[in-house]
Amino acid sequence: MCGIVGFVSDKKIKVSDLILGLKKLEYRGYDSSGIAYNCDNKIKYIKKTGRISELEKVALDHNLLEEPFYCGIAHTRWATHGMVSEQNSHPHMDCKEQFAVIHNGIIENFQELKNQLEDRGHVFKSQTDSEVIVHLIEENFKKDLLQAVLATLNLLKGTYAIAVMHKDSPNEIIAARKGSPLVVSNIEGISMLASDVTPLLKYSKDMLFLNDGEVAVLTPNKYYIYDLEGKPIHRNPTKIFWDESLAEKSGYPHFMLKEIFEQPHSLKSALVGRLVNGEPQIQEIKYLYDFVKNKMNKIYVVACGTSYHAGVATKYFVNKYSNIDFEIEVASEFRYMNPQVDDRTLVLAISQSGETIDTLEGVRIAKNKGAFVLAISNVVGSTISRESDAVLYMNTGPEIGVAATKTYTAQIALLYTLASQIIYWKYGKNNEIEKVLKEIEKVPKIYEELLNNTNGHMMELVKKYKNFKDMMYIGRNFGYPAAMEGALKLKEISYINAIAYQAGELKHGPIALLDENFPVFAIVPFGGLRDKMISNIMEVKARGAKVIVLVSKEDTQTKKIADDFIDVPIVSEPLLPLIVAPLTQLFAYYIAIEKHLDPDKPRNLAKSVTVE
Ligand code: GLU
Repeated sequence: MCGIVGFVSDKKIKVSDLILGLKKLEYRGYDSSGIAYNCDNKIKYIKKTGRISELEKVALDHNLLEEPFYCGIAHTRWATHGMVSEQNSHPHMDCKEQFAVIHNGIIENFQELKNQLEDRGHVFKSQTDSEVIVHLIEENFKKDLLQAVLATLNLLKGTYAIAVMHKDSPNEIIAARKGSPLVVSNIEGISMLASDVTPLLKYSKDMLFLNDGEVAVLTPNKYYIYDLEGKPIHRNPTKIFWDESLAEKSGYPHFMLKEIFEQPHSLKSALVGRLVNGEPQIQEIKYLYDFVKNKMNKIYVVACGTSYHAGVATKYFVNKYSNIDFEIEVASEFRYMNPQVDDRTLVLAISQSGETIDTLEGVRIAKNKGAFVLAISNVVGSTISRESDAVLYMNTGPEIGVAATKTYTAQIALLYTLASQIIYWKYGKNNEIEKVLKEIEKVPKIYEELLNNTNGHMMELVKKYKNFKDMMYIGRNFGYPAAMEGALKLKEISYINAIAYQAGELKHGPIALLDENFPVFAIVPFGGLRDKMISNIMEVKARGAKVIVLVSKEDTQTKKIADDFIDVPIVSEPLLPLIVAPLTQLFAYYIAIEKHLDPDKPRNLAKSVTVE
């Protein structure tokens, strides 16, 4: 989680540059922040809990914002070990304040290391696991910072992205990664590092993504990469084409709203060259033809949160159109069970950030068992995409809002296209699927109309329902993943206790919860199970609960029995989760706004979940 930024330059840099870098990483989620920089061979630092603007205020109050230096590191912390406090904020310093270290991740053997260090006389100032790193560096330092860091890394168990500076080396930062992301770059006398490219795009487009077990030495003119034994590694940087302005809010009050409204575009861009006139043509998986046709006997999705819901929708899709065995499990469970995957399984590892630690572990387990792992990620060069056998990028551009929106719809469209390609390979072309795929190509247009026309009516609903403490989302079949995702969005950003059930499950327990204080959001299908859903709505109403139906415009009968409705354009059943998503996203967004909550930074949540 959290974020790391650092600069080492032959020109003067300022505290405000580091703060700007941290602000670009705010979306990753954090609870405190801090920076350290080298001023005339002395390490100065400031730390603060809360928002980066608080840290900026401290710097301003002490006239530090414009203070120049040549070497500095900065950190946003998302606490795992030790409460949120200034003492526990990074950077951490050794006993003599010669070294400063920032760390993202978890040192699993920290207690044992800490006991040993304390026995040898080290005094700890924080409760963090991270502080052991800096004391170990202090002990291991002879003359050479790189050697001290290497010796230290060899003692650590767990995950880390770290950046280290030494008071007597104002031209050097050492960085290393294992399990937490880190990228380095250099341009015209300045080397820099960060947890992802966003803070660096302002300076350069050439990025080198560190792999696990790699260490970087940054100097103003160049960076050098080594393995954990200190052997040099030569690798070329990757060019990143993300425009910095793509990561800004483009005039919307929140990233989340901007990203909801980007969906006509992001969906199109996810499908470009992959779905052409109803034909799945995914180049990235072409070479899988033989494996799929002759060997593959199971698809297994491993994912968390919203990505998991996209996987559930895909399960209904694959079950509807083929006999392919399809399993799905949340990654945090998958990694601790005995998942039934082997060399005949295609594992789809779905993660927006490509850094989700549970999914990453799932990838490793699946690969160990011989499965072919295809990653579906939005972040080029992310760990999951690099560790998998192949990768399909979502291509939606950066998603900054913590609650996933545009990546969810891109995932569904991409997964349906992928599933269709696989089904065609195995069983030949299928006209029903082709019809659905042609409709998917029309979804961007449908989104445009939907997004431009729902506002007024949506606001009325929001005002009416914002004060409820609980809400239930129900759906059947393709409506079920739509319900799960609707409920997740609402709980994530409005903190309403929103829960989702298969409508048929109501009688098996959840209906006991319902009364006039527990409204129900019912996702009504257009054909098939519509009548079953109406029966469920009647059951709900009989308990006094209000019902909002998401229903086709023409379905006046269902609208009549409901308390409120939201119109949904009629599409083929499999498209239900895709078509309903922007509506449930907007509902959740405006509820959060009405409750004066910041939808971009929901409490306790982080965008990129890099700790277990
Ligand atoms: N485990 C460290 C701590 O609690 C780092 C957490 C993070 O990644 O921000 O301070």
